[in-house]
Amino acid sequence: MPDYAIAVHGGAGAIHKNLEREAEYRAVLDAALDAGKSLLEKGGSAVDASVAAVAVMEDSPLYNAGRGAVFNANAFCELDAAVMDGKSRKAGGVAGVTEIKNPVYAALAVLRHSRHVLLGGAGAHDFARLHDVATVENAYFHTEERLRQLHEAQEKGRVQLDFSEDGQAKGTVGAVARDQNGDLAAATSTGGLTNKSAGRIGDTPVTGAGTYAENGICAISCTGTGDEIMRIVMAYDIAAQMRYTGADFTAAAKAALDKLAAIDGEGGLIGITAKGEIYLPFNSKGMFRGSFRAGDAKNFTAIF
Ligand code: ASP
Repeated sequence: MPDYAIAVHGGAGAIHKNLEREAEYRAVLDAALDAGKSLLEKGGSAVDASVAAVAVMEDSPLYNAGRGAVFNANAFCELDAAVMDGKSRKAGGVAGVTEIKNPVYAALAVLRHSRHVLLGGAGAHDFARLHDVATVENAYFHTEERLRQLHEAQEKGRVQLDFSEDGQAKGTVGAVARDQNGDLAAATSTGGLTNKSAGRIGDTPVTGAGTYAENGICAISCTGTGDEIMRIVMAYDIAAQMRYTGADFTAAAKAALDKLAAIDGEGGLIGITAKGEIYLPFNSKGMFRGSFRAGDAKNFTAIF
């Protein structure tokens, strides 16, 4: 049984085989895994490792979180993030934030310092500043590529997952970890859907929908069409099947993804079990993903 393990994802969707800059996407997944595992190998917590991994991907303009997040219908970035600690069952999230450089750090501040689970709007920004989380102008998040995607979505009248028609993709990011104490955690961060309505909040910051962790069962971070993921409470649905029916992770995740497909949802997830087993299932064409378990010679990364 490995004493620690970590997995990351960078979003799921219709990723084309001829993805440009594939090596760069993989390098960010590797860097995220390295950031998490360097904490885990020193005895750091699953919470800190999953947050550190997500922050690396937020800083990369290639993925739909932090810098390089997708635009809403007003050509503005509104970001959601969450983290959950499987040991204490504490969770922290921020929703619709527009000026927090690393939303996952604000989510961690909520987990550690607030009696609440989810903060949004001006209060979330005030809370982040109070706890020394760095803020930036909204323009910091903007990239040309995202603006092009927004215009494309608007021409087609669509609200879409982070994948342009040419299949050049970047996605929501997440991480799950098991630390040397056997504690589990999950963290997720996103810009949401291209051309989403202003004020729309997705599954990512909602405990049990896009992010969930429960010691003894599993930790999960989801990606995909968040409105549908919320309607099936996907992350918790998997944990609940495992807890109440004894289903294994593979069967529980398949049932949840089938349920998602049945309401025309699309996506994937990463999960880690109490034993440190890692699962990376998805029902879309591809999902950026990676993992490392103590004792592995190197990181695993894959897209298709
Ligand atoms: N789940 C995210 C949302 O709907 C989007 C994504 O995973 O790319 O906000």
